[in-house]
Amino acid sequence: MKTPKGRSKVIPARPETENCGSFPKAAESLAEIGRGFYARGWVLGTSGNFSAVISRKPLRLAITSTGLDKGGLTAKQFLEIDEAANVVRGAGRPSAEALLHLAIVHNAGAGAVLHTHSVCSTVLSGTHARYGGIALEGYEMLKGLAAVKTHKHREWLPILENSQDMVELADRVTRTLRETPVIHGFLLQEHGLYTWGESLAEAKRHVEILEFLMEVLMRSGAAQSTGVPDGADCHGPVANS
Ligand SMILES: [Zn+2]
Repeated sequence: MKTPKGRSKVIPARPETENCGSFPKAAESLAEIGRGFYARGWVLGTSGNFSAVISRKPLRLAITSTGLDKGGLTAKQFLEIDEAANVVRGAGRPSAEALLHLAIVHNAGAGAVLHTHSVCSTVLSGTHARYGGIALEGYEMLKGLAAVKTHKHREWLPILENSQDMVELADRVTRTLRETPVIHGFLLQEHGLYTWGESLAEAKRHVEILEFLMEVLMRSGAAQSTGVPDGADCHGPVANS
């Protein structure tokens, strides 16, 4: 399988050999997270994929195989892949988006990468595509993102045009991460969210924070209209108290 062109070495510099956790343990944790995301409606219809780095040198990832119902995800359904997305453990094919996971691991120094297909990310990545991204600012929940200390932080969530050519898309992901290294995630247009973290726990938290904030944006739009007929107050046309 071809790999993204022009990929950098793993950053930051790490020891020659580094094991980041066992494959069974990573697969178990990823499966539990996947079932939880399914319950939240973020990975319906076999969508989404998850990975965690289990070794840096040589690079090895535990990653979902393709086409799985995430509601019943188990550790046995995970594969171990190398830096070229070749399967070195487990049965099945890796997700078509494995090259994007590898691009993020290489260029963001991620220890885990999580990808969701929520309603909010699908809608907002379409409506905001003409702006190139979504600016998130002023929200207390922003402090759940790594190294963010204040609600005044301005988080930029780039939107990349969707593609079925994963080599080409991985190249664009690589360019985006090099040009905007401070981001915590990005959206694929009318597709979904990618985020990551140094650890799996941090990546999971980033999904929760970014999905929360996108839902806030969606609901804020609804909140601008009271839905109350002219002449009625905001408690509705009938007051019982
Ligand atoms: Zn996807």
